[in-house]
Amino acid sequence: MTQHNIQQIQHIIGGERITGKTFANYNPHDKSFLCDVAEGSSDDVDRAAQAAKKAFVTWRNFPIKKRRDLLYSIAQKIEENAAEIATLESMDTGQPIRFMKKAAMRGADNFRFFADKVVTARSGLTLPADEHLNYTLRQPIGPVGVITPWNTPFMLSTWKIAPALAAGCTVVHKPAELSPITAERLTLLMHEAGLPPGVVNVVNGFGETTGKSLCEHPDIKAIAFVGESRTGSCIMRQGADTLKRVHFELGGKNPVVVFADADIERAVDAVIFMKYSLNGERCTSSSRVIVQRSIYEEFNERLAKRVAKLKVGNPLHPDTEVGPLISKEHLQKVSSYVEIGEGEGAILRAKSTNVANELTGNYFTPVLFSNVESKMRIAQEEIFGPFLVSIAFESDEEALHIANDIRYGLAAYLWTKDITRAHTFAENVAAGMVWVNSQNVRHLPTPFGGMKDSGIGRDGGDYSFDFYMETKNIAIAMGEHRIPKLGAE
Ligand code: NAD
Repeated sequence: MTQHNIQQIQHIIGGERITGKTFANYNPHDKSFLCDVAEGSSDDVDRAAQAAKKAFVTWRNFPIKKRRDLLYSIAQKIEENAAEIATLESMDTGQPIRFMKKAAMRGADNFRFFADKVVTARSGLTLPADEHLNYTLRQPIGPVGVITPWNTPFMLSTWKIAPALAAGCTVVHKPAELSPITAERLTLLMHEAGLPPGVVNVVNGFGETTGKSLCEHPDIKAIAFVGESRTGSCIMRQGADTLKRVHFELGGKNPVVVFADADIERAVDAVIFMKYSLNGERCTSSSRVIVQRSIYEEFNERLAKRVAKLKVGNPLHPDTEVGPLISKEHLQKVSSYVEIGEGEGAILRAKSTNVANELTGNYFTPVLFSNVESKMRIAQEEIFGPFLVSIAFESDEEALHIANDIRYGLAAYLWTKDITRAHTFAENVAAGMVWVNSQNVRHLPTPFGGMKDSGIGRDGGDYSFDFYMETKNIAIAMGEHRIPKLGAE
């Protein structure tokens, strides 16, 4: 990877690049060696936590306007380097470059959005009582740990780090071991923009060792985590002794319910986009399409035609729509569900026939399964690849039952022109976010997060500050109210 001169991804602790023991990182497209990555020990985590603790003393009181301007400068740096970030992200993750360009710009948007919120981050409520004026202040919780997954690491890192910095917290970031490149790039850009050393530190390594040390560290006050539901359980256990505050964005198996009265053409576009973009490695993907029986055959036929034409190939090629999966192990996992689905009696309805020649990497050919029952494993388990399952329903009640018949509750999508049905369904579906007649279109002030096994807490707007800040109540007596006298006689 001489073009970008990445030979080794290092830790960045207290503003210094540090390495030690390393492990190898490979390109999902052709399995070639990409770079060595530093493997953080518990000592490295401790040094990073100490650096974050020291920097917190000044960062929490960093002048508001200077902090806001610094976050704007980081956004500017990201924009200036967006093309390079997109290329690095695409090589490291296998995500098609057409989506990664937008993901890099979304990273800049995240910093700009939270820069605007710096000015009001500390503001609370005024709660006057009869004899006291109560008011609340918000104060940063302290150094926090941020642990991110491999699917869209740059965007997700900015989504966590920007609000933490706006709140006045300092950060120790543990990126995913399978795609660590852009986390280093982001931290270097933040320092180029003028971020003081120690405010953001990166320690690379594996979850079970480096990540665990971060969760257990007594000076780290909270863990913001994005990843699998079972890892969330581990993190909760690891953080129990130090009473860590946790924020979890976990797995999903999101329903998209299509009623017969829907705009079918737009619904097909949205279903295909939300399942097959980002290689299907997307927490909010519409993994289960639940279609009214009267249009079931026609809808599947339309989906099948589109799936057959999905362009699979080198993620760096601008025309590519689906790239390779992140790793050999993940490819094996996703592939195993084809056999599982057929064994359960579902029908392999379509497969892409638009696959580039001579692909040697972790490529999985996108599929659509129809005649799926809700109880089947392919309908219940998070596959996290370009793998769509289609289920039929008769009535509104049955559609809702199938949508909620799952351990997850991140997002739900609904297609209907009936406004009463839309409101009723949206209220009753167990999901943190519902889109009606739309794909996932993010608006940064709105709450992002899941119910059930899909998460704890919400991100976005002021919701992020509920996690990164403590709310303190201050009560001021407004006169000489009665104070009980004890031991006075
Ligand atoms: P993962 O849980 O395997 O790993 C995520 C991160 O956790 C990595 O950095 C990993 O090293 C670390 N980790 C693993 N074990 C740990 C431990 N015991 N202690 C501390 N850290 C540990 O997830 P993944 O496979 O990288 O990512 C895919 C998952 O992420 C999917 O389930 C997907 O749905 C989820 N995801 C959720 C959202 C959301 O917003 N809800 C967004 C993106 C991805």
